[in-house]
Amino acid sequence: MAEIRLENLHKAFGDFTAVRESSFTIADGEFFVMLGPSGCGKTTTLRMIAGLELPTSGRILLDGEDVTWNRASARDIAFVFQLFALYPHMTVRRNISFPLRIAGLPRKEVRERTESVAKLLQIEHLLDRGVGGLAAGDRQRVALGRAIVRRAKAFLMDEPLGALDAEFRDVMCEELRVLHNRIGATTVYVTHDQVEAMSMADRICVMNHAEVLQIGSPLEVYDRPATKFVAGFIGSPSMNFLPAKGGLPAGSRAIRVNGSEIAIPETQASLESAEAFVGARPEHIQITGEGALRGRVFGVEYMGARQLVTVDTDVGRLRVRSPNTLRVNDGETVGLDFMTERLAVFDAATDRAVP
Ligand code: ATP
Repeated sequence: MAEIRLENLHKAFGDFTAVRESSFTIADGEFFVMLGPSGCGKTTTLRMIAGLELPTSGRILLDGEDVTWNRASARDIAFVFQLFALYPHMTVRRNISFPLRIAGLPRKEVRERTESVAKLLQIEHLLDRGVGGLAAGDRQRVALGRAIVRRAKAFLMDEPLGALDAEFRDVMCEELRVLHNRIGATTVYVTHDQVEAMSMADRICVMNHAEVLQIGSPLEVYDRPATKFVAGFIGSPSMNFLPAKGGLPAGSRAIRVNGSEIAIPETQASLESAEAFVGARPEHIQITGEGALRGRVFGVEYMGARQLVTVDTDVGRLRVRSPNTLRVNDGETVGLDFMTERLAVFDAATDRAVP
């Protein structure tokens, strides 16, 4: 088990900054997910923790010990790439035990640990089968077994489920999470899939353009996004952003959106720039008769008990989630009301949420 601490960790490739001054602590036993679009620096951060990449500056501490310059093999951290990479000519047993045999452990211990991992993953009955003919799920479990058999202090996983189709990915997400609850090892998991992140993480670290934007529980990053980017990246369909006129002093309770006043939670700080965005999630807008804003229904998508209504307004196209008991037709003019306490305001100049 291990706590992983990053202190001002920085990585540049020539003129290009891949990771900018990252500082955060991953708690012992935590399932920590690094989330962000392609190229934002997630993998580079993970590779530095693993020792596969050296930082330009900054430090990495493992349980308080500075391991920044330790070789990867001296860190006792297991790096799991795509979970599909197995040795095709070997049996399940030999695939799982591979890291132990490489490390030169006594045969008896290799056998015992291999069998205990197989039991944990419920693939004991497959131990002496070749991996070639296995079903996809069992192959994943074998790969997972090989990753955890070393009993490393921490597991680093880089999009381990990336190659799987959506349905199977859901199943494996759940299995990974259950496995984590059983063995309780610190896990750092990289993905660009926000649904995966939300469903698995104890905490999510959202990155963009080499920077950490926010670290928090799935609920925190969803309900109180620190920036407009985080707000838009998490949640599907995405949060709606309504352009507004800023210049708001602290203590404001309303903001101007295209001539209408929209009530917002009382601001604690003033807005620096003259432009702002009001952020409203689809489930926090209601279709009503009058409404703070008016628009025309562009389309309705039925999703069981709920429906997603697309409404064109003077400030752009908004998506509204409503109960399917509400009947609306394409082309109909509707009013929109906003759940004041659930709205967020973002400063257009800094992208940051206004507290
Ligand atoms: P992805 O999901 O695409 O892997 P990522 O968030 O993991 O994205 P990184 O792989 O960390 O992103 O890459 C961050 C940036 O650093 C990218 O623009 C990438 O091109 C660049 N980069 C990574 N490794 C190197 C390298 N060895 N030399 C030069 N640039 C690199």
